[in-house]
Amino acid sequence: MSKVLQISNLHVAIDGKEILKGVNLTVRQGEVHALMGPNGSGKSTLSYALAGHPSYEVTEGSATLDGQDLLALDADERAKAGLFLAFQYPTSIPGVTVANFLRHAVSNVRNPDRKEGEELISMREFRKELREQMDVLGMDPEFARRYLNEGFSGGEKKRAEVLQLAMLRPAFAILDETDSGLDIDAVRVVSEGVNKVAEREKTGVLVITHYQRILNYIKPSFVHILFGGRIVEEGGPELVTLLEEQGYDWVRSKYPDAAKDEDELEQQQNSPSGQLTF
Ligand code: ADP
Ligand code: MG
Repeated sequence: MSKVLQISNLHVAIDGKEILKGVNLTVRQGEVHALMGPNGSGKSTLSYALAGHPSYEVTEGSATLDGQDLLALDADERAKAGLFLAFQYPTSIPGVTVANFLRHAVSNVRNPDRKEGEELISMREFRKELREQMDVLGMDPEFARRYLNEGFSGGEKKRAEVLQLAMLRPAFAILDETDSGLDIDAVRVVSEGVNKVAEREKTGVLVITHYQRILNYIKPSFVHILFGGRIVEEGGPELVTLLEEQGYDWVRSKYPDAAKDEDELEQQQNSPSGQLTF
């Protein structure tokens, strides 16, 4: 049975300032969607809100995964429910190897009742699976021994995330600007990895990007344009081509009210107080 991720009338505020103004989005397992929008339109705000980041306050609306209220869950429970998020700026965890991190993550997600400190999945079983997945993704086994994200190149950070995706096998994956800072070969490698896992596991994928490049490799069937904190246009891959050819200007003139909100968001983003510290 295919699961459904449903976001309805989602409003999100940061420091009391409304950023998302009623987002509706439905992703079914096995579908590939793209959420496109200029910088500052609220794309990352959506992924942080779905992740349960405390600075992002949901003031109205809902997000459910197969009917289960995601917003009522702790961040780690959302992962157990089947949601995977790859952030635009992954953090490094000094002293924790990729393998060790993955063994904990896999143990938590596969045994939802596991308490911290309880047994992890067996080393033997884990190693075997890790080796298989790295092989499928064409990764050097040595990579698993490195400290997570420490000194990783942009491409390596993203490959570490694809490996997580392959090991965790979530029902839904949200990939925020997965191609930012990558050269074209790295984009291709990472995209191929995502496609492999998504096809195999029937993952519902939401690719978030302001730029069409990655969509040449991860091909969406559904495209949504976020502008001024709301989704103003929806369609198929033809929207990607349209944005590539014409930029966001036509969106701006077609939706003047959203354009006003977008300008405000943009100003805020450029002011020092709009900068984020995590
Ligand atoms: P996008 O990912 O589409 O570029 P974001 O969701 O990152 O856009 O940002 C949308 C707006 O919200 C911008 O105006 C940005 O400055 C603001 N914003 C995002 N996160 C924060 C935060 N933690 N604190 C203050 N403002 C934020
Ligand atoms: Mg962003």
